[in-house]
Amino acid sequence: MPELPEVETTRRGIAPHVEGREITEVIVRQARLRVPVPADLVERLVGARIGDLARRAKYLLVPLEGEAPGTLLWHLGMSGSLRIARLGELPKKHDHLDLVLDDGAILRYHDPRRFGFVDWLAGSTEQDARLARLGPEPLSEAFDGERLFARSRGRRLAVKPFLMDNAVVVGVGNIYAAEALFLAGIDPRRAAGRISRERYDRLAAAVREVLAAAITQGGTTLRDFVGGTGEPGYFKQRLNVYGRDGQPCRRCGAELRLVTLGQRASVFCGHCQT
Ligand SMILES: [Zn+2]
Repeated sequence: MPELPEVETTRRGIAPHVEGREITEVIVRQARLRVPVPADLVERLVGARIGDLARRAKYLLVPLEGEAPGTLLWHLGMSGSLRIARLGELPKKHDHLDLVLDDGAILRYHDPRRFGFVDWLAGSTEQDARLARLGPEPLSEAFDGERLFARSRGRRLAVKPFLMDNAVVVGVGNIYAAEALFLAGIDPRRAAGRISRERYDRLAAAVREVLAAAITQGGTTLRDFVGGTGEPGYFKQRLNVYGRDGQPCRRCGAELRLVTLGQRASVFCGHCQT
């Protein structure tokens, strides 16, 4: 599933090819995504110019300039990906949407499971309910141990689902929550309200570390966004705990354990994480 680093890598990968370009044609092959493709999307987009791409949490924001300015709110769902196809490159199965640009390049959306969507926002993106409720970006100054500590007082919720709550901080999915808790040495089952300020400082630093490492690693895949047949933007990091239940801890050798927290599988080391 595309997590924050994959969405950020997608933004960086496609930006040089689409920013400043005019949309000349929109081809919708499959409108039934998680949110149906707006019926007037073609009419709104043709002739519009693409501004500077942005990302908020796992949403890609594509600003459009022209007679009726607005923003495309794009979510990759469980299996979505965006890449640049060249003029004449035939669509494959699950290539649901094309934005054809004035230089002949095509921004092509692929999504086998169709849990992703693209929606149109007129006016300010801050007024959209999906964006308004979001907490700070994990790589911004607004996110730190102090915030985690303050938001967690009195909470009996386990720290892992607490960290995955988008109102606390955005974009920390299952993989990165598990890895950050391992680096910080915190048991994912521990009540969020019973963790010290010092440990939250370490956790905030660990969240930044795992996300920044994934984004840096993603940078090496940027050329995959153009042409070819690959699925761009997904990259394998060396993971310490995620997906490794039953295997030895890389730090102490103890067998990693699996628990379910907030309906999500969580792997941790009962020796290193307390
Ligand atoms: Zn260990």
